[in-house]
Amino acid sequence: MKVTEYFEKAKGQALISFEVLPPLKGGSMQAIFDTLDPLMEFKPPFIDVTYHREEFLYKKRSSGYYEKVAIRKRPGTVGICAAIMHRYGVDAVPHLICGGFTTEDTENALIDLNFLNINNVLAIRGDARQFEGRFVPEEGGHHYAIDLVKQIVDMNKGKYLDDNIENGVKTDFCIGVAGYPEKHFESPNLDFDLLQTKAKIDAGADYIVTQMFFDNKKYFEFVERCRNIGITVPIVPGLKPLTKLYQLNSIPRIFHIDLPEDLVTAIQSAKDAEGRRQAGIEWSIQQSKELKANGAPCLHYYTMGDSETIRQIAEAVY
Ligand code: FAD
Repeated sequence: MKVTEYFEKAKGQALISFEVLPPLKGGSMQAIFDTLDPLMEFKPPFIDVTYHREEFLYKKRSSGYYEKVAIRKRPGTVGICAAIMHRYGVDAVPHLICGGFTTEDTENALIDLNFLNINNVLAIRGDARQFEGRFVPEEGGHHYAIDLVKQIVDMNKGKYLDDNIENGVKTDFCIGVAGYPEKHFESPNLDFDLLQTKAKIDAGADYIVTQMFFDNKKYFEFVERCRNIGITVPIVPGLKPLTKLYQLNSIPRIFHIDLPEDLVTAIQSAKDAEGRRQAGIEWSIQQSKELKANGAPCLHYYTMGDSETIRQIAEAVY
């Protein structure tokens, strides 16, 4: 079933969903099951699986020279989606990115997903690779998420890259896109960013999942500003608990978001690691309860492999 159909069926009740990362290459599928098994009691209708582009590494060769090699550290998104659907009987939502894909690669990936009966995708651009200052698309690939959305919409109409294909199978993908309550870091301002988000919806995307945030005011304002410019699709808040001291610096640096003073104080003043974990859990519970009570269609938790923390939050909220 489509993600948006779950929202319609829920009739205003906030659903719950989770996001998992493929294990590092060499890891096992069991790691994903170990993360998800304890969370299935909350009955998520869908689970997202992230996609990770290749990264460049410099490997020292016996000659002493360094060679630049491209390595995908976390492959397996599509296989994980299929395994999740098979084991739990829920829908899986693979993330599909522009980076590293030609339009032909994208088309072939969508054909694979369609054949696997995966009818939901989160269409995103991807970030710049390490050692590259800005996002560089694959030659013949998409520059922005909106271009990917358009390609998926075309396939939903039976339009393939090869004009000779007549009466091509019409796929039926429900398309999610990313949104940023605190602005995407490359955008000159929030209004500009909102217009790009609107353009993705106008191009055919069906719903938005937000970047994580720790101040609900940012989400509520974002939703209001989206509605004011005519974005009517569901806007799903993305949530991650902050439970470790180093995250006070790493989360703002990596995700370009602010942390509320009260949360910073709660983490800093906790006695030990367990105290910090509990402070972060408590913050996330309060955030979740307020979002749930105020019309969020679904609470989408970034698990990052820490299912026990997410389970404690979900237990208090659902
Ligand atoms: P876009 O919508 O293309 O926007 C990128 C930037 O370009 C923005 O600043 C936007 O305002 C601007 N822009 C857009 N269109 C135009 C235009 N036509 N002209 C000028 N400027 C424009 N990354 C991964 O690699 N794998 C994942 O699985 C993954 N999952 C994610 C899930 C969620 C919910 C979120 C919020 C992010 C995720 N990301 C993931 C990170 C994402 O790839 C980055 O945030 C990336 O930098 C932007 O992706 P986007 O789809 O928002 O890009």
